[in-house]
Amino acid sequence: MHGKKILITGGTGQVARPVAEALAAANEVWCLGRFTDENARKALEAAGARTVTWDMASDGTDGLPRDFTHVLHSAVARGDGRDFEETARVNAAGTARLMTHCADAEAFLFVSSGVVYNRADSTHRYRVGDPLGGAAPWLPTYPVAKLTAEGVARGLAEALGLPTVIARLNIAYGPYGHGGVPMILFRQMREGRPCAVPREGQNYCNLLHTDDVVRQVPLLWDVARAPARVVNWGGDEEVGFNDLLEHMSALTGVPVRYDRGDRSRETALFDHTERRALIGDCEIGWRAGIARTLAELFEEYRDRIDAHA
Ligand code: NDP
Repeated sequence: MHGKKILITGGTGQVARPVAEALAAANEVWCLGRFTDENARKALEAAGARTVTWDMASDGTDGLPRDFTHVLHSAVARGDGRDFEETARVNAAGTARLMTHCADAEAFLFVSSGVVYNRADSTHRYRVGDPLGGAAPWLPTYPVAKLTAEGVARGLAEALGLPTVIARLNIAYGPYGHGGVPMILFRQMREGRPCAVPREGQNYCNLLHTDDVVRQVPLLWDVARAPARVVNWGGDEEVGFNDLLEHMSALTGVPVRYDRGDRSRETALFDHTERRALIGDCEIGWRAGIARTLAELFEEYRDRIDAHA
């Protein structure tokens, strides 16, 4: 992709930052955000992106150019777990401001989450059209943030005739930001803290490496349409969480302890039929991707991981 004018929110985050940096090489990329992490702002600017301070909770879009061709809206205000009204307002209003400002864009991509599904069955492969209304005991406002913004994206796609794709992301991981849930769990392991897993069996997900995210964002823009297209967005492989923890332990020598109970983070497996038909397969296998990410983020294990490969 080159020569496009691209607006990105969440550019300091784990998911959108590598996309912004990659696209800035051959496109005009503008990143909006609070830039609570100044180093991320510097890295984005060093990669050639423009940065504009913008708080989705309060700021309008006056002063921004209107001729963006593509929008990646990845910012999320996950909320504090208690204030549902404010979480709904911030995410809905932010999405509405961006879409009305960029009503003439070629494509708008809203990054949603598998957390919107009512995930009652850990082995079901969720499809678009399955029951919505997911709960997230670890952060109850989060599903509300995503569902309200999805509603706005659907409504404005149709009202404005703005080609839109709502991509429900599974679990992304890679060397940026917090590294994703697998790296958050690995930090727990290093600190000797147990990892919450179900009483029986294990949780499953479709891990997606950020290299695949970077490659697939332009492909998702290509399939945007009005009314909005909704697509599940995850890695091809089905990964058991306990298998993931054991893999990270074998690579690094850091022992894993399980906290078996009711406090594990519910995850979801996706049916990928539509995503594969629209944008194809993924390229990064999870075992190799996790090894590479651990080596990139935790230098002290690099030699051991290389020897293991
Ligand atoms: P991060 O937690 O890494 O980053 C959140 C981003 O949102 C930051 O760039 C932050 O920028 C921005 N942001 C938060 N509040 C505001 C605000 N008030 N105004 C403007 N920007 C704001 O998120 P991820 O990269 O992990 O997630 C990206 C998207 O993907 C989100 O929409 C998330 O719901 C979705 N997703 C992520 C998954 C994952 O595995 N990572 C799984 C499923 C969905 P700043 O602080 O600079 O303002």
